[in-house]
Amino acid sequence: MRKIAIYGKGGIGKSTTTQNTVAGLAEMGRKVMVVGCDPKADSTRLLLGGLNQKTVLDTLRLEGEDVELDDIRKIGFAESICVESGGPEPGVGCAGRGIITSINLLEQLGAYADSYALDYVFYDVLGDVVCGGFAMPIREGKAKEIYIVVSGEMMAMYAANNICKGIVKFAEAGGVRLGGLICNSRKVDFEADMIVAFAEMLGTQMIHFVPRDNMVQRAEINRKTVIEFDPAHSQAEEYRTLAKKIEGNEMLVIPKPMGTDVLEKLLIKHGLAG
Ligand code: ADP
Ligand code: MG
Repeated sequence: MRKIAIYGKGGIGKSTTTQNTVAGLAEMGRKVMVVGCDPKADSTRLLLGGLNQKTVLDTLRLEGEDVELDDIRKIGFAESICVESGGPEPGVGCAGRGIITSINLLEQLGAYADSYALDYVFYDVLGDVVCGGFAMPIREGKAKEIYIVVSGEMMAMYAANNICKGIVKFAEAGGVRLGGLICNSRKVDFEADMIVAFAEMLGTQMIHFVPRDNMVQRAEINRKTVIEFDPAHSQAEEYRTLAKKIEGNEMLVIPKPMGTDVLEKLLIKHGLAG
């Protein structure tokens, strides 16, 4: 079982990219579980056709400790298994705790058991702050393989660099590795070249360049991944390619994050600030 976590700046496209990649893998016959680790609980909406899934934390609040696996898992597109951790009530407690509680509960209830023959678990983790609960999937070795969704926008790259710092911190103890950067295009000039250069400086690769395409929104309005909504569309093919590249990826590294000055120089060199 490959345990993969997807990180990146808020709004960069983690949930969209994760679900479309999962759809690609599931379509290839792989058994995949997605664990949403964002209090927004929107990590599985496209796989579930918009079904408003009760989160793990909600279920615990409503039903107490006596929870069964099928109370917190739903089956989505192509037999994908969908879980949403959820978050605390607004203003109460740390959102990161939800992730810890959820993963522990999934383990206790045997969600990772061999009998389910999972090929992949994907954690879709919010934000760019690799601290506290949000670092939990990598800190405790729950996820061994990280992909960072990034674009050519400075703040997205800044966040990616910070996430790399977090990975370094836990790499020795937990064995977590970076598998690559997924460039989710914002149509910035020279974006692919810049992300390839950025990846190289980090000691990793740009595993795929996902174009920006309105088909993503069209599918989203219809509560579907692009792969389900319009399987013949070129964007669906992009996600299938990404899925295959992840499946075949053997480049797992401890990244080499850089100073902000070096990052800024990279941006200037590639024409963004010049
Ligand atoms: P995150 O999970 O990182 O917060 P989302 O996956 O929710 O981000 O994406 C934010 C928005 O960006 C979504 O509304 C989605 O439709 C849009 N989006 C993501 N990727 C693409 C893409 N490749 N092309 C067009 N729109 C995209
Ligand atoms: Mg998200």
